[in-house]
Amino acid sequence: MTSGVGVISGADAAGGVPHRGGPAGRPEIPAMVNVHSHAFQRDMRGAAERLSAVAADDDFWSWREAMFAAVARLDPDSMYTVAAAVYAEMAAAGYGTVGEFHYVHHQPDGTPYAEPNAMAMAVAEAARAAHLEIVLLPAAYHRNGWRAGADVPPEPGQRRFCDPDVETFLQRVDRLRDWARDRPGIEVGVAAHSVRAVPASWLTPISEYAERHRLVRHIHAQEQPREIEQCAAEHGCSPIELLHRHGFLGPRTTIVHAIHVSDADIARLAATGSIVAACPTTEANLGDGFLPAQRYRDAGVRLAIGSDSNVRVDPFEETRELETLARRLCLSRHGLLARTGDLWGELHRNGAASLGVAGERRLEVDPTHPSIRGIAASDLPYALATCADPGIIVRSVPPGDAPGAAPPRTRSG
Ligand SMILES: [Zn+2]
Repeated sequence: MTSGVGVISGADAAGGVPHRGGPAGRPEIPAMVNVHSHAFQRDMRGAAERLSAVAADDDFWSWREAMFAAVARLDPDSMYTVAAAVYAEMAAAGYGTVGEFHYVHHQPDGTPYAEPNAMAMAVAEAARAAHLEIVLLPAAYHRNGWRAGADVPPEPGQRRFCDPDVETFLQRVDRLRDWARDRPGIEVGVAAHSVRAVPASWLTPISEYAERHRLVRHIHAQEQPREIEQCAAEHGCSPIELLHRHGFLGPRTTIVHAIHVSDADIARLAATGSIVAACPTTEANLGDGFLPAQRYRDAGVRLAIGSDSNVRVDPFEETRELETLARRLCLSRHGLLARTGDLWGELHRNGAASLGVAGERRLEVDPTHPSIRGIAASDLPYALATCADPGIIVRSVPPGDAPGAAPPRTRSG
């Protein structure tokens, strides 16, 4: 597994960023792994920011209504179009692999397409067209929460996410895994949308399925206080504790967000080796709150990053947000970077583990780009987490590619 920026060696005569030995003579760094994306949400940019001037409570829940409206317009062709555009953006920005948390499965009224995985296949083909490795994470969804002792049925906007039972869902995952088997660059894991969207009785079968087939498993949890209140009312515990009871946590498990957490929640994640996917730009945009990064750091919980709603697609920005957030919380410059000296490499390594891939794609970077020009070789890992941007990328290098044997440039300039 490639990780860190240790491929760089030596310093150039001017004391700036060193050149690597290959014909291209430029440093290489790992392409970042994006562990959490909803490709179609890219089309909500701008429009989703039109908030009422008088209603002060626009938050995740009102954003969700706008998301349902965007979902209603999708079919496999338009899903391919939006995904191809945002994946091209990801490849150009420095991501090499994307985990697509996929829950728009069916036709708008909830009827499966003739090919029940048509939407997931469209997403996967879009990633291949963008030269991006993809791990499809088909997500189970069944209900619109729980109230007064019963599942709340899906709203019209949610019908196309839903399956009638967990067996039907897992059969479709089986079928998708068969389809992906002979397609390089396409892998399949499994997901449950959230403990709000699936009943607890689905969690154990999904955990067991993932264990049986050695698949990574993902779930949104503890993004919003209301979700935690609902889980406490239904189950008498936090979502993370509920997941623990159902065998969902473990080293191949990623909890997306995990913002509003108790010390006990963090201890459970640490003890089980689970990974937390932080999505700083989306969490900021939605007013979710912020990740208690320093508490996770101190507990030894692995962190990875995701572009989530794709309101921003920039792994340098996500990395910097995470680092500066940790520094603000600590009232110190000892955030995450100080622990290892290579936050980019750490997020890449944890991202690869989160998706169960090697994440071998690399980025050739331009040491003369204004954002990193004049930086000493040994300081490049620090620069990646504090001042670099996608403009430093010259090209994305696929695994096994010899230095200088260039694939198409992913970005100009
Ligand atoms: Zn998400």
